[in-house]
Amino acid sequence: MFFVFCIFIIPIVVLVLLLLSTRQKDDTETQPTEINKECAICDKEFPISELTEQEIGDYRRLYAFCGYCIENLYQDHKKKLTIESGE
Ligand SMILES: [Zn+2]
Repeated sequence: MFFVFCIFIIPIVVLVLLLLSTRQKDDTETQPTEINKECAICDKEFPISELTEQEIGDYRRLYAFCGYCIENLYQDHKKKLTIESGE
């Protein structure tokens, strides 16, 4: 009787545990990517509502930029313009 238990019950228990563990991993991996997206410059994840999306290049690939990187680019651009106009 113990032999039968080992052959049938243990593999089923192991299989169920494996299925449960892979399902939990899938849930945690798909959830943030549906809501969040990576900024193309700093690679940090932000909610899509906080990002500005822009099609760039010949293939019109869609990139997303966070407010912090856009602000940094703008400040760099302003500094460059003031340095060039001052000389
Ligand atoms: Zn960024």
